Amino acid sequence: MKNVKKDFPIFKNHPNLIYLDSAATSQKPQSVIDKVSEVYLQYNSNIHRAVYDLSQTATDAFETSRQRVAKFIGAGDPSEIIFTGNTTESINLVTYGWARKLLKKGDVIVLSEMEHHSNIVPWLQLKKEIGARLLFLPVTKDFRLDYKAVEAYPTSKIKLFALTHASNVLGTINPLETIIPYFRKIAPKAKILIDGAQSVPHFSVDVKKIDADFFAFSSHKMLGPSGVGVLYAKKELLEEMEPMRTGGHMIKKVTKEFATWADLPNKFESGTANIEGVIGLGTAIEYLEKIGMKHIEQYENELTVYALEKLHKIKNFKLFGPKDAKNRLGVFAFAVGKVHTHDAAEILNRSHVAVRSGHHCAQLLLEHFGVTGTTRASLYLYNTKDDIDKLVEGIESVKKTFKI
Ligand code: PMP
Repeated sequence: MKNVKKDFPIFKNHPNLIYLDSAATSQKPQSVIDKVSEVYLQYNSNIHRAVYDLSQTATDAFETSRQRVAKFIGAGDPSEIIFTGNTTESINLVTYGWARKLLKKGDVIVLSEMEHHSNIVPWLQLKKEIGARLLFLPVTKDFRLDYKAVEAYPTSKIKLFALTHASNVLGTINPLETIIPYFRKIAPKAKILIDGAQSVPHFSVDVKKIDADFFAFSSHKMLGPSGVGVLYAKKELLEEMEPMRTGGHMIKKVTKEFATWADLPNKFESGTANIEGVIGLGTAIEYLEKIGMKHIEQYENELTVYALEKLHKIKNFKLFGPKDAKNRLGVFAFAVGKVHTHDAAEILNRSHVAVRSGHHCAQLLLEHFGVTGTTRASLYLYNTKDDIDKLVEGIESVKKTFKI
């Protein structure tokens, strides 16, 4: 893993950069950058609509990516993979295409307090529109999901569980292999949507094994280009869903009176896709598979153990996340004394340590902990123990600057 950094040209261009903001977006390996250039240099053309060679090549590369994504997450059937713009759009597609059509006033949607705004705001909109009821599973004092709190809810009214696989603030991984069977028992008719934006990049996910009905994630957090998201959904759900956006490419027939929809997955992919982005995502998956997701998970866990050990020794420092590296990502949201999160991030930046500050699109969670923002460092496969040492040194300079 020591050589991984060499595959990422950003680190050659910025030799001092300590990049600790992969929960926001990941860096890209040379192979992904080359693949996107190759599309433009070798076979740039629109897909699915022409018979000439260039377009056939682009279409084949695009559809090969879909197959790769399906295999990568254990979906089996590539027509269950819908390309969207990002995780946010994938979740919106479930809200508008499935929930808006099938849910009614008083139906309960169970979320959690550790959701990203992407998995809260679309449901708030739905609540406003149809009067659905939103209930939020709480987070325990040790930063884990209190999923059994669902027992106190009107379980017969639950129509959907919409839950993050891993928190972008706490680093908590929700053990879906336990939680999903539990939810199925409590509310057998409810569907389950998983926000996998923070899980798919970091460990092996099998959507069939975990038995998710809907599963959303983004290319840009897993070494791929921005502007590409994925929604996996079980075929029967995709069949009954309405498209969110209509227009070209997603139709079977258009008359002056009506239009009918194309077969899956095209029904949900209106207009020209982010062709080079989708093809680049396929190459990102190839890169991840070459290293091996098991290996990546193991390596990141070693870094997490190391980071937790170091961070817990810092005085006047609060970490918002589990103390234990088990079921935990290398995401560390913290407060240094009472120093403003932007000030801490700015001082870290002086030593080239790139971290995030603010609410991380998780205002509910921060409110739960009584703060308005935190500073967040997040790891990925190209980070090293040395990067963590630099983070710790940076935190010490924040303390020195503010004399705490
Ligand atoms: N969910 C989680 C858990 C996330 O961390 C993020 C990105 N920070 C999103 C959803 C939204 O992803 P995107 O911006 O790619 O739509």
